[in-house]
Amino acid sequence: MANLGYPFTLGVASGEPAPDSVIIWTRLAPDPFGLDPARPGGMSERPVPVRWQVAEDQRFTRIAASGTAQAQHAWAHSVHVKVDGLRPAADYYYRFTVSAPFKNNEMSAVGRTRTAPARESRDPVRFAVASCQRYEHGHFTALRHIAEAGPDVVLHLGDYIYEGGKPAVPQPGRYVRPLEPPERSCRSLHDYRNRYARYRTDPDLRAAHAAAPWLPVWDDHEVRENYAGGLPGDGTDPGAFLRRRAAAYKAYYEHFPLRVRPVGNGLRMYRWRPYGAIADFLLLDGRQHREPGDMLGRAQEEWLTGRLRDSSARWKVLVQPLFFGRRMFPDGSLSDDAWDAFPAQRARILDTGGGGLVVLGGDVHNHWACDLGDDSARPVGVEFVTSSVSSAPPGTDNAAILAANAHIRFHDGHRGHLEGKAGPEGFEVAYRTVEFVDRPGAPMGTAAVFGVEGDRLKRLDI
Ligand code: FE
Ligand code: CA
Repeated sequence: MANLGYPFTLGVASGEPAPDSVIIWTRLAPDPFGLDPARPGGMSERPVPVRWQVAEDQRFTRIAASGTAQAQHAWAHSVHVKVDGLRPAADYYYRFTVSAPFKNNEMSAVGRTRTAPARESRDPVRFAVASCQRYEHGHFTALRHIAEAGPDVVLHLGDYIYEGGKPAVPQPGRYVRPLEPPERSCRSLHDYRNRYARYRTDPDLRAAHAAAPWLPVWDDHEVRENYAGGLPGDGTDPGAFLRRRAAAYKAYYEHFPLRVRPVGNGLRMYRWRPYGAIADFLLLDGRQHREPGDMLGRAQEEWLTGRLRDSSARWKVLVQPLFFGRRMFPDGSLSDDAWDAFPAQRARILDTGGGGLVVLGGDVHNHWACDLGDDSARPVGVEFVTSSVSSAPPGTDNAAILAANAHIRFHDGHRGHLEGKAGPEGFEVAYRTVEFVDRPGAPMGTAAVFGVEGDRLKRLDI
């Protein structure tokens, strides 16, 4: 085999932190947008040994763990290493090295990760929340600001990639940078792999992964717009769609440091990630298990309500992709793709929430904040909805939506992300904004800061 160029073009990542372990990830892709489906990332069929190191310091003088993983062609030469025996609430640094078949001994960038706190810990948790990063719509400047802040954990609410291609009709101002060749919509495993490669070659996205462990959930665009369970949403053949979905889920796994692998045509994404006695992060899958009248599917709902009932954490945080609360449009209509289409299941979840329920949502490409529940005399929790990192906002009349929904307390139309802090006393969220995404380098602003008091929103001084 010819000697290959630099393999760590897609960077490094870590995720799924526990008090004593974390998953670290990389993928070998010397030719990230290679057009040959038999050679993902420009790699042949041969497995490649990848050495990894985890250290307590950035110069790797105090090694905490090390080993070798085999990068396999069947998984696009991605590696997922579960690193055990770590200390809770501790920073670690990690890197990967390879030699043959590469031209030189090659070393990856260094990533920083952090384990979750011990179960009894009452230390505050600092997190960032992002969603909806359409590559061709703009630069990922919000993610650059997340990388610079270096939170304990990054919660990503989905629409991590968008499956679409270059629009047939030019959309001025909405296609500010090109997708990977041939700029078409993703259908095959190879298409999805190259789309992830397009995103991961973005320096801001790579920096955000290298700066902190992530806990991601997915939404529709990781597969296809508005899909629901095994149905594509446009009446086309479900068998063909299920094969496409399986390809998309496999490519997703190949690019994230997850604890689970795809099984059959599914990938278990709903999960519980405790952060000490402070926060139980409950990560939801609003797509894979969808049925008529039911967003989560019965098994996931039973799991969720059981977790909510059993939780003794100060804050129970639903990490999920969509707008959760009621949001009536000015003409009286409701979304048929978000929680407003599943009011009975939403009501059952709110009934078991107890105190300290916080929902994080995305999908709508604007910042929002709302009180949850139908009865303002009986508050049941709050919702913080993050704007898009780059995806263009919808043409909704947001002032009229605010006027039509008394429980929706805040809107801002910038692109951006959320920064949060959960502690024994309070839960605070700052709505971060960027002025522009059509070029890099927008400074970060703050549109508002909210806390939670008596399971209601409370606006705080910036
Ligand atoms: Fe989106
Ligand atoms: Ca979406």
